[in-house]
Amino acid sequence: MSLFANQIPIIISAIIQTINDNADEVTELDRAIGDGDHVVNLQRGLIALNDIRDELSKLEWSPALMKIGMTLMSTMGGASGSLFGTLFISMAKAAKEQTLDFNVFAQVFNQGVEAVKQRGKAELGEKTMLDTLIPVAETLTTDAADNVALAQALDNTKIAAIEGMQSTKEMVATKGRASFLGERAIGHIDAGARTSQLMICVIADVLLKD
Ligand code: ADP
Ligand code: MG
Repeated sequence: MSLFANQIPIIISAIIQTINDNADEVTELDRAIGDGDHVVNLQRGLIALNDIRDELSKLEWSPALMKIGMTLMSTMGGASGSLFGTLFISMAKAAKEQTLDFNVFAQVFNQGVEAVKQRGKAELGEKTMLDTLIPVAETLTTDAADNVALAQALDNTKIAAIEGMQSTKEMVATKGRASFLGERAIGHIDAGARTSQLMICVIADVLLKD
């Protein structure tokens, strides 16, 4: 059993908790510039993950990531379902036959984010979840290359996620439903950027407690 898999039930519980705690706020965000269903989509996926937490715990990290991705893909719906699904499925492929360490994780996460960019045909600065995910991927790469201690790297990851999420507030959206609003999207944080940040921060917090 891998270290990663051992952490999965704790991480799933922590993510469910933080998404539930912030559900009203995220719904408001998606209502302002989308259709208001983002949290419900995500919660559906998280409940499905919670149902298979014991099975996930028995898997090595690559098959666990694959199972997570397939589950999100088939249960969530919405643009975010296929994008979060793609993130994990692509991470699973990159993680195949690899031993988990910080450096490898940074590479695997980068490949997952790259796949999300391709799937969504989106880049940094388009007011999507990628405005959280890309800065996190970049921070992980830099810190892995610099051999930054894990605790410091996790703090840096949280800062990158928060700054990335906040950066979406002043953006015009060019992808997703918010793109229909043009300038009217300015002043609202993107819902997917916010949930991505919440999940990344809570995962970092769980790992920091170890
Ligand atoms: P839907 O937009 O189909 O209602 P959700 O509400 O679940 O789906 O998810 C919306 C979120 O998905 C947005 O807030 C944004 O972060 C993300 N998103 C939408 N389109 C794209 C895209 N092309 N690339 C990256 N992320 C996207
Ligand atoms: Mg929506």
